[in-house]
Parts: sequence; structure tokens; C-alpha cells
Amino acid sequence: MRCHVQVRQQLEAVYDDVRRRNPAEPEFHQAVGEVLHSIEPAIAAHPEYLEAKILQRLCEPERQLVFQVPWEDERGEIHINRGFRVEFSSALGPYKGGLRFHPSVCLGVVKFLAFEQVLKNSLTGLQLGGGKGGSDFDPKGCSDREVMRFCQSFMTELYRHLGEDTDIPAGDIGVGTREIGILFGQYKRITNRYESGTLTGKGVGWGGAPVRTEATGYGCVLFVRDMLAARGQSLDGRQVVVSGSGNVAIYAIDKAQQLGARGVACSDSTGYVVDEKGIDVDLLRQVKEQDRRCLDAYVETRPDATFVPGRSVWEVPCEIALPSATQNELTAEAAATMVRHGCVAVGEGVNMPTTPEAVQLFIEAGVAFGPGKAANAGGVAASALEMQQNAARESWTFADSERRLEQIMRGIHDRCLCTADACGAPGNYVVGANVPGVRLGDPTTGYAGAAAPIKQADPPPGDGIQGLPVDPASTSQVAGGHPTPKLADRPQDRQGTSRPTSLSVLASAVMLAEQHLPLKVDTPELHCSQSPRRCIGRRAASRVDCGHCDRDGLAVGGAITCAAA
Ligand code: NAP
Repeated sequence: MRCHVQVRQQLEAVYDDVRRRNPAEPEFHQAVGEVLHSIEPAIAAHPEYLEAKILQRLCEPERQLVFQVPWEDERGEIHINRGFRVEFSSALGPYKGGLRFHPSVCLGVVKFLAFEQVLKNSLTGLQLGGGKGGSDFDPKGCSDREVMRFCQSFMTELYRHLGEDTDIPAGDIGVGTREIGILFGQYKRITNRYESGTLTGKGVGWGGAPVRTEATGYGCVLFVRDMLAARGQSLDGRQVVVSGSGNVAIYAIDKAQQLGARGVACSDSTGYVVDEKGIDVDLLRQVKEQDRRCLDAYVETRPDATFVPGRSVWEVPCEIALPSATQNELTAEAAATMVRHGCVAVGEGVNMPTTPEAVQLFIEAGVAFGPGKAANAGGVAASALEMQQNAARESWTFADSERRLEQIMRGIHDRCLCTADACGAPGNYVVGANVPGVRLGDPTTGYAGAAAPIKQADPPPGDGIQGLPVDPASTSQVAGGHPTPKLADRPQDRQGTSRPTSLSVLASAVMLAEQHLPLKVDTPELHCSQSPRRCIGRRAASRVDCGHCDRDGLAVGGAITCAAA
């Protein structure tokens, strides 16, 4: 065990090193800083991870690819874009993560997304490494043929790095079923192999998982439902506001409404819409997915709805907030307004949409806060289902895939909750989502007892790998973000809210979380309200097999809510 001051200094040194080695990449600094801060108690209990340079391994991509993508538009003009793929960690499996086509894409953004993806994928409990990629290409306003020419050129370089056991991209901003279809077609032509597991997010007719399109938005709402249930609350009748109106946002609204909530507002990069009668999801899909128009087109068909140009959707009062647009869109100022308006839960539908100051504000105000690594893991979970389906040459039904997605999201929720609890930060899902991923710095033996074998036998990951050289010029194209403060200056440190009550509890907590074992807690027996004599478990705030109805019930503080009740 090492004292907190020493650990803090060493984490600070790791963080400084990351900033020095990755200049002008504020999003990456922010993502690393948040993780290093929240795992401090776990590292205090395991100083050997510092000696074995586990954290440095965790923060250094195994391979970074930057390449040229030339293409020709309808007028015959040549364009040169830049393509990226950051293969961050293969500790758990092949690199897995989406491709983003957007003008703001640069190496730092891709690196932050890949870093988050590694930790997110590990939370699913599935054998997936982490990576991310994309290009500064802007598909907006391009014809289908232009998008096709760009995608084919992009894949002509990227294909050599992919494979169903190597690296498996999917979609992200600007990359949907259309783009995945073109990319897969080009991959198949070049390699002469129908490796359907090499790309996920495919159309259902040719190997896509039926629930993949809906999975991220649906998963986020399921995660929020579980956070509320752990507090004895529900989504029923709640007013929901969602930022964005893309893939994640549309299906988040859809699922929230299926579960009895009212999705009343959403946004895009031009402004936001408020529809007090509840957002019409079919109309939203028509406007954004089919017609690819701006959100103001929504009110042409729904005259009772209002479009507010150029403002933040977070000024609309809500009980449940689902940020589903882009990184750093939800600031401390917006968070303060939302808390004042009575917001009780936030589920991050996208990666790092909430600034660190806003996260702290929500946690201090007692808002249930689901970080993106956990709350939006439904997308990658469904991708894994797609890979399983492809490997078995099977076609699953929508209901079957959705049931599996729900199980995975529940597992992620319970894992985060148990880890946070045992880390002395009950209900802090940020701690719960970050601590289990520490083991990923160790490519050999897993989290526990890693130091000795690594020191004796293994070269650092990345040794001997010939990645393409990284063009330093690309680091100057950094999208807007926030300067990341020193670890010691972060608001969490001043408040000290995530401090453990006991380091020995932490040590065992980390081990238990790692092994996905239930914590041994001495709590009273729980009884189903519909069959009171039957003991159905002992754990508080966890899912248990109800035994009365055919579905799980939720145990909170000694009482069980039967799903049939
Ligand atoms: P998408 O379909 O391209 O939608 C993005 C939406 O965000 C669009 O409505 C866009 O508006 C809006 N937006 C972008 N910047 C904005 C801004 N500054 N203010 C307000 N709205 C803004 O992308 P997506 O697939 O939903 O993905 C969104 C995010 O979720 C990404 O960060 C991605 O990494 C993350 N994510 C996605 C998945 C997935 O399965 N799709 C899984 C995990 C995480 P316009 O229409 O005006 O551009």
C-alpha cells in the first residue's frame, strides 16, 4: 500500500508525460486525466502497477495510422483528405471501434475516442480490444457517388490493417449503414474474401445484427432505467431531453417513450426543437435520416412544435438528460441550470459530452450520472452480437438480439455499481466504469499480480511493431475543447468526494470487480412481494432472479420489486 500523496505525484507524472508526448490533443488529455484521477484509490492499493508501467501502457496506443485519402467530386475536382486509425489496445481481443467522418476529426480526437473505447469495451465483459478511426472528410452535402468514391479510397488504404481477428471498424458520426456498405464492398473486392465479421453496423440483409442500429440509444436508456431503479425510481412519466438527432439520439428518444417517458426536445448543429406532445420519432427519422435536412424541417409537419435556432437544448427543463450529440457539449453552466430545473439522471449517449466540471456538479448534486463508457456501450455490445452471429453464419431475430442487449447493459450497470460501492464511492458510476479497465495495461496476466511476469518476460506492447509514422502537422487541427487542468486542480480533488473509506476494501473491490464476482455483503434476505416465503437473494441494489414472475426483479434496500407486481 502506498500513501495517497505519493500515488498522486506518480499519477501526476504519468499525466504530464501523456501531455508532453501528445501535444495539442486536449480531448485526449481530458479523457486520460479523468481516468487517472478516478483510479487513484485502486492504484494506491496496487503500487506494483506503477512499477510495471501499467498506466503508461494503458495510455499509449499500440499503433497509430495516418494516411492520405484522395477522391474526385462530381465536377472532377480532386480532394485530399486525411484518414486515421488508432489501434489502441488488443489486450482483450481484436481492435474494435467506429469510424467518424467529420471535419473536426484529427489525431487527438481519434485517440481520445479510441482510449475511451478500450475501457468501454472491457466493461461489456466481451473479448474486444479497442480502437477508433475516421477522416476529416465531411459527407454533408455530398452526393451518394461522392460518398462512394471517398469510402472506396479510404478503404483502399485501410483494408491492409483490418480483419475479423485483427481490427473491426463500425460506424460513428457521419458513418451509417450506407457508408459501412460501401466500405465492406470495397474490402471484399480487394481481399476477395467474404469476411463479414470485419465490419459491423452492416445492413440486416447482409449480416447486420437486427438491433445494431437501435443499440446505442436503446442501451443508454436501459442504463438510465437501471440507475433510477437502483434508487427506487422509474422512467415512467419523466420529461426527457436529448441533444443531437442522429442515430444515438433518435433511438434514445424511441426507447424512452417505449418505457413511458416523454421525449420533448432534441437538437442538431443548427438549434433545437421542443415538442410538448412528445417527439414524433418517425418524423424525426424522415427529416434527419432519409431527407438529411436540418431540424427546422420538423416543425413544417408539426406546427405545434417550436424550433429554436442557435441555442443549447439544455435550457429546456428536464428530469432525464441524454447528451447524444458530441464531446464537451454539456458545460458546467448548463449543468447548473439543469440541476435547478430538477434533473435527476444523466445518461451519456455519446463519448465525453459532459465537461469534467459539469460531471462534478451533477455528482455533488446527487444526480444519477451514467458516464459514456458504460451508458453508451450498447452499440459495441450489439457489434459483438453481430460478430457472433456472423461467425456462426446465423441470423437472429430482433427480439432475441434486444434481449441479449438488455442483459449486457444490465451486467454493465451492476458491475459499475458494485465496483463504485466497494471503492467507497457508492453510486459514483464514473469510478465504477473506470476502475475495472486498469488491468488492460497488462497484456499478459490480467490485473492481479501482474508486475513480476511483465518485468521478467514481456517487452512493452508496441515493441517491434512497424506503425506508420504519425504526421506531427495533424496535431494542429484540434477541434474545440477545454484545456485540461492538472490532476491536483481538478474539482473532484478539492471536494474529495471519491475518496475510499478503506484501502483494504478497495484492494479486494478491484479484484472482485475484475473477476465479475458478486460482493460478499452481509445483508438480510430479500423476498418477492408476490411470494413472500421464498428467499430470492441477499444483495441490495442488484438484480435478482425473482422466482415469482419469469423476469428479474430489482432488490433495493431489503425489499424486492417484482416485475409482475
Ligand atoms: P450522427 O448520426 O452523425 O448524429 C450526430 C448528431 O449530433 C447529429 O444530429 C448532429 O447534428 C448532432 N451534432 C453534432 N455536433 C453538434 C453540436 N455541436 N451541437 C448540437 N448537435 C450536434 O452520429 P451518432 O452515430 O448518433 O453518434 C453520435 C455520437 O455518439 C458520437 O460521438 C459517437 O462517438 C457516439 N457513439 C455512437 C455510437 C453508435 O452506435 N452510433 C456508439 C457509441 C458512441 P447535424 O445533423 O446538424 O450534424
